[in-house]
Amino acid sequence: MEKVKADILIIGMGGAAQLAALNAYDANPDLDILIVTKALRGKGGCSRMVQGGFNVVLNPEDSYEKHLKDTLKGGQFINNQEMARTLVEEATPTIKEMETIYGCFFDRNPDGTIHQKPFAGQSFDRTVHKGDLTGIEIISRTTEQIMKRNIPVLEEHRALDLLMSPSGERVAGALLLDMRRGTFVVAEASVTMVATGGGPTHYRFCAPGPEKSLDGLGMLYRAGVRMIDMEMVQFHPTGLIVPGSVVAGSLMEEGLRGSGAYLLNALGERYMIRYDPEKKERATRDVVSRSSYLEMMAGRGFEHGGVHLVASHLGAKFVEKNFPGMCERCSIFSYDLARKPVPVCPTAHYMMGGSVIDKKCYTSLEGLFCAGEDSGGTHGANRLGGNGIADSCVFGRLAGKAMAEYLGKGMAIPEADGAQVKRLIAEYGKPFDRDKGPLHFELRDRLRELNWDKVGIVRSKKGLT
Ligand SMILES: Cc1cc2nc3c(=O)[nH]c(=O)nc-3n(C[C@H](O)[C@H](O)[C@H](O)COP(=O)(O)OP(=O)(O)OC[C@H]3O[C@@H](n4cnc5c(N)ncnc54)[C@H](O)[C@@H]3O)c2cc1C
Repeated sequence: MEKVKADILIIGMGGAAQLAALNAYDANPDLDILIVTKALRGKGGCSRMVQGGFNVVLNPEDSYEKHLKDTLKGGQFINNQEMARTLVEEATPTIKEMETIYGCFFDRNPDGTIHQKPFAGQSFDRTVHKGDLTGIEIISRTTEQIMKRNIPVLEEHRALDLLMSPSGERVAGALLLDMRRGTFVVAEASVTMVATGGGPTHYRFCAPGPEKSLDGLGMLYRAGVRMIDMEMVQFHPTGLIVPGSVVAGSLMEEGLRGSGAYLLNALGERYMIRYDPEKKERATRDVVSRSSYLEMMAGRGFEHGGVHLVASHLGAKFVEKNFPGMCERCSIFSYDLARKPVPVCPTAHYMMGGSVIDKKCYTSLEGLFCAGEDSGGTHGANRLGGNGIADSCVFGRLAGKAMAEYLGKGMAIPEADGAQVKRLIAEYGKPFDRDKGPLHFELRDRLRELNWDKVGIVRSKKGLT
């Protein structure tokens, strides 16, 4: 059995994981840090897919109180308020470090200050961005910083389960699958961090990257970590409808609605005026998604079941200048966002639930940290657009510092429980021995349909049962 060892094992390579690795390294360059990612370096995860941007208080006319109030209101006030306050207060130093230390360069106003755009549910325009493809800037720059520090990365290694020490007292690493060779690897570490980015890909329409399959949440749950708000799944209102394509459900970013794009049903009605007369399309995602879904269920959807997103009245020049990435994506499927309506429907987007963590990203298990979309509680029942990548970077940064602090001057790397490793390998090998029964692709598709119909945007006791 191949074994690798590290002081810090970080599972995932999105915003949370990279900020954690960089901050742990900068706190103590002698630490042995190992990053494990299911994808390729700098290529996987949703942080790279971030379009709209990062919510942060920078303007003196804005305030932490306003950002906190928006976040709590958006979350229907069931947020962990201490975590939400940490998010808004720490977002400011985090974004400043991302520019000055890691070289992320965001769009500017003519006077040189950072440009901030409107997003839904905000009382002040506070979304920092790089055009409409902000995540590429964040992940490209932070990946370069990981390379500059020579932090090793195991690419195309999928973490399968957390491993415990033989006494069961602490987490001692993870069992990995080397996806290139099809072999198992035991990774032992003094501290382990789960940052696989949630990702509700278990629905008919979904926005996260295809390699996401809620692995981290599964691992945390199976290890007995305390979880919170697992029923809270966010549906983004404007997933692109592309009949028959795997791209169905990919996003038309929220800044479009922030800038005045609106939604129409098949009767040509701007139905958001009925559901939220004040905010209309700038209502929070849960409200807009639910409204669209109810219109579709009432038979007022278009041919392929969705509604229309209209941006043409903003002027083709404006749309093409401010949303080049969205225009390009639409044109691939012969849609003209700048001039014509585009068919969209709600799409599964984000898990508000996950591991309970504290401000330093400790979980309920010794030796285990978690940050980003795998953690829960900060966003309550609904995350505001722009608070997701902020969450990953803010808590990734705090986790990195906390893991370095936890290890202090060093700590012996624990052995993983050999009996657990043996049992897991036998379990994970089982599907390969089956010679009959449905294929796993078929099971996955059935699960996606079932979840969409019965455990989706609008739920009932009967459907859930
Ligand atoms: C299309 C899209 C647009 C978005 N736009 C915005 C936006 O404008 N603003 C905003 O705030 N939020 C946005 N979000 C949400 C935001 O992207 C996420 O909240 C955030 O990026 C999650 O960061 P993370 O570090 O937790 O996970 P990710 O960035 O998703 O990283 C997870 C990492 O874990 C790896 N991984 C997964 N499973 C395993 C495994 N088993 N073993 C090893 N590695 C594994 C992945 O390959 C990846 O490297 C968007 C999301 C999507 C899908």
